[in-house]
Amino acid sequence: MSRSVLVTGGNRGIGLAIARAFADAGDKVAITYRSGEPPAGFLAVKCDITDTEQVEQAYKEIEAEHGPVEVLVANAGITKDTLLMRMSEEDFTSVLDTNLTGTFRVVKRANRGMLRAKKGRVVLISSVVGLYGGPGQANYAASKAALVGFARSLARELGSRNITFNVVAPGFVDTDMTKVLTEEQRANIVQSVPLGRYAQPEEIAATVRFLASDDASYITGAVIPVDGGLGMGH
Ligand code: NDP
Repeated sequence: MSRSVLVTGGNRGIGLAIARAFADAGDKVAITYRSGEPPAGFLAVKCDITDTEQVEQAYKEIEAEHGPVEVLVANAGITKDTLLMRMSEEDFTSVLDTNLTGTFRVVKRANRGMLRAKKGRVVLISSVVGLYGGPGQANYAASKAALVGFARSLARELGSRNITFNVVAPGFVDTDMTKVLTEEQRANIVQSVPLGRYAQPEEIAATVRFLASDDASYITGAVIPVDGGLGMGH
């Protein structure tokens, strides 16, 4: 059955791989983008998730074209890495506003249709850094760890309504986000990953699609690492 799927930040990187995985399986996929030309093959809606009005507008467009969102993948996220002594309040609050409050905005709006439909699947993209920590990433790690408490609270609150909330925690993935790292940083990371390499975005997408599938009907409140073993035990 073709479902109405929304992937935030589905215009590139991990989000695009996730959007493609759902589209390949026959779902109706909407993606958000902020600027430039979005990739073809999806319903692309312009939306900055830090703006509640833009989120509302995006949902209206999607609902008109695809019907209420049945599967939401909250993927959009940013980093503003720097050591605590140099981290401005804006560095901290802007990362929280996108990664955490932005996720709250899109989840809250999706919930309306899911409650009515008495079913729904929500997958939040966190990070291994959320529970493992990362020097220079206090803002990012705090935002990604917070997604776990957020998802688990909603799993308890809305489980009886047949809505599942799961978290995927990727390790290091080959995207624009990690292209900014130096060769030396990359080599150090790879050395600490048991599988000895970065992930490809498609490897994250496969897990997300599983969590939204019938095969995952009894999984909620889970945090699934897709990190090559980097975060084992965290
Ligand atoms: P990219 O930097 O390649 O892409 C980020 C995406 O998020 C873009 O589509 C971007 O849209 C979107 N986005 C950022 N801010 C906003 C906003 N305010 N409103 C709407 N969209 C926004 O990152 P990745 O693909 O690597 O990361 C995707 C997710 O996976 C993020 O949440 C990230 O934290 C997480 N992650 C990534 C890892 C990695 O190693 N790459 C590891 C673990 C987790 P636009 O094109 O308009 O800028």
